[in-house]
Amino acid sequence: MGSQRGHSTEQLRRHNLSAILGHLHVTGPSSRSDLAALTGLNRSTIADLVGELAALGLVDEEGVAPGSGPGRPSALVRVRPHAAVVLAVELAVDSVAVATIGLGGFLYNRVRVDRPRGRFSPDETVEDVVKLAQPLLAALPDTDALVGVGVGVVGVTRRSDGFVHLAPNLGWRDVPLGEAIAKALDVEVPVSVANEADLGALGEHVRGAGSGVSHLIFVSGEVGIGTGLIVGGTPLLGATGYAGEAGHMLVNPAGTVCRCGAVGCWETEAGEGALLRHAGVPDPATGSAGVDAVMARAQGGDRAAIDAIDTVGHWLGVGIGDLINLFNPEQIVLGGMFHRLFPLIEARLKDGMESRALSAARRLVSVTRAGLGVDAPLVGAAELALSAVVAAPASVGVPIDTRRHGREERGR
Ligand SMILES: [Zn+2]
Repeated sequence: MGSQRGHSTEQLRRHNLSAILGHLHVTGPSSRSDLAALTGLNRSTIADLVGELAALGLVDEEGVAPGSGPGRPSALVRVRPHAAVVLAVELAVDSVAVATIGLGGFLYNRVRVDRPRGRFSPDETVEDVVKLAQPLLAALPDTDALVGVGVGVVGVTRRSDGFVHLAPNLGWRDVPLGEAIAKALDVEVPVSVANEADLGALGEHVRGAGSGVSHLIFVSGEVGIGTGLIVGGTPLLGATGYAGEAGHMLVNPAGTVCRCGAVGCWETEAGEGALLRHAGVPDPATGSAGVDAVMARAQGGDRAAIDAIDTVGHWLGVGIGDLINLFNPEQIVLGGMFHRLFPLIEARLKDGMESRALSAARRLVSVTRAGLGVDAPLVGAAELALSAVVAAPASVGVPIDTRRHGREERGR
C-alpha cells in the first residue's frame, strides 16, 4: 500500500471498504483471514473495515468458516441482501422482465411476460413495467431498502442520463427512458439504463458462465445481434457508451441489405431474419415462435430448416472469428436465440470461426451458452444498479433507522 501514500487515508479507507464489499457481493461469504489475504491488509484493519460495513448495515458475521485451521475459529462475513435492493428491468423485443435483487445477487422475485411483437410505444412499455414492478416492490421486506433501478434495453443508450437514442426493433427514437421510468415508479433512487447486450455480458461475467473470466464477449441474437465486451475484467463501452455494435460489421459482401442501409451486416446473415428467410418462413414477424418452429422442423429432418440453421451457424462463426482476432477473448458466451440454437449450430459455428480467426487466438477460446440463459441481461441490469453501492458503501449504506426517505414520502 506504499504507493497509496500521498492520497488521503480517507480515500484509501473508502477504496478498501469498496474492495471488501465487492468481494463479498460477488463471491459470497468469506472469513476475515480470507479478506486479509485478498486485500493484503492486516487483521486489525480488516476488523475495522468489517466493523464499519456492519455499522452501515451492509454485512454481518455468522457461523464458523470450515477448515479455518488451528487457533481461533473464524466467523464468516456476509452481505445482508436487504440492506441494498435494486429493481432490474429488461425491455426485450419479445418480452418484458422485472426482478427485485439484493446485495450479493439475492433474488427476491422475478417476473417475465411475453408480449406479441409489435411497436409498443415508450409510454405503454413504461406502464407495463410499473404494473409488473409494483407488486414486487411492495413484497420487499423493507421498501426503504430500494437503492436503484437498472434497465436493459435493446437499443443505443446513453448511460449518463438513461436516454435511448435509437431502438430500431422497438421502433423508438430519442426516448428519455430513465426519466420516464423514475417518474412512473415514483422513486427517488437513481435509474441506470444500458444496452441489453452490454448488460448480458456484465451478468454473465459476474454471475454466469463467464464468472471469473476477465476477457469475454457476449453475443446475443434476438431480431438483431447484440454484443457486449468485457476486457480486462471491465466492460468496454467506448467514448460515449456505444461500442460493441458488432451486429453491423460486414461479414458477407454478397449478402442481404440491412435495416441500417449497408449490405451483408452480421445480423442480416446470422440473425433471426436470416434463419426465417432461409427456412422459407412466410411471415418473418413470427419472432421467437418462428425460430422454435424452424428448430422443430430441423429436428424432424426438414432439409430447408436444417440448411437454414447451418447457414446461420456458419455466419455466426465467421463474425465470432473476426471478434476473436480483434479482442483475443478467453470465452464467447451465447445468449438469446443463439443460446437455444447452440446444440444445432455448434459444429458449423466452429468451422466458420476457424475460417476467420487466427490460430493463436482461436486455440484459447471456449464457446459456451449463457449460464443465466434468457435472464443474463436482467441480472446484468441488477449488477449495474448495485455497482453504485459497491463503489461507495458509505454513501449508500445509511443505517436503516436513519434513512431519510420514509415510506409515506414515496406516496405508496
Ligand atoms: Zn446493418
